[in-house]
Amino acid sequence: MSIPDIIIAVDGYSSTGKSTFAKMVAKEFAFLYLDSGAMYRGVALCALEAGLAHEDASFDEPALKALLPSLDLHFRRTEDVTKLYLGDRCIESEIRTLGVSKFASPVSALPFVRNFVDDKLHAFAAGGRVIMDGRDIGTTVFPNAQVKIFMTAEPAERARRRYEELLAKGENVTLEAVRTDLEERDYRDTHRATSPLRQAEDAFVLDNTHMTLHEELVWVLGLLQGKFSLLESPGLSW
Ligand code: C5P
Repeated sequence: MSIPDIIIAVDGYSSTGKSTFAKMVAKEFAFLYLDSGAMYRGVALCALEAGLAHEDASFDEPALKALLPSLDLHFRRTEDVTKLYLGDRCIESEIRTLGVSKFASPVSALPFVRNFVDDKLHAFAAGGRVIMDGRDIGTTVFPNAQVKIFMTAEPAERARRRYEELLAKGENVTLEAVRTDLEERDYRDTHRATSPLRQAEDAFVLDNTHMTLHEELVWVLGLLQGKFSLLESPGLSW
């Protein structure tokens, strides 16, 4: 199916399955997938390792600002998997722990951090045909994205999914701690002054509380076909 070279912006609350959905769409329709949250998590990890993050989730802001330009955070693509690197060190698993999650949202509220990440995202996406997920992709990073999707799901279901994902990775967490982390991140993301999470006016809402991945794919296929007047209906691999 001939989908043009476009940018698809996927935004939404924490743990709504944005990255799983975006990866699946990227694979199915040959898009480059970029996970903007990974960059914020990467900055949070660097702040923690440099001793610039405090217990109360505040930061030594002048020192962090000075550190940012020296951080070689970048995505590397192997086959169809994109991973975050700090120099030559793959930090993909470290940035996914609950310990780093706790600091990713507060660090992302700092305007100079957002500028740093936005510059990187624009550079990575140069050339188009990209699907990127985050909180402000359709509203701030790529306000002209041709397709905008806003994902949501019931909080209890999101917490359950995240909890099982972390357990499968061997993390020692409770469902309660995961739910609290989600609620705190949603609150911070929707209430911060710079680039808060909100649904773009021209976004299509995808509530996947009761949907399978295959149903999500059928949904997005219908969206793309309608949007670009594509008559062919390819066989889906999912
Ligand atoms: O998507 P993920 O949960 O991995 O993102 C980590 C954190 O980064 C989020 O809790 C959110 O606060 C922040 N974020 C953001 N803007 C984005 C992507 C993520 O503020 N575009």
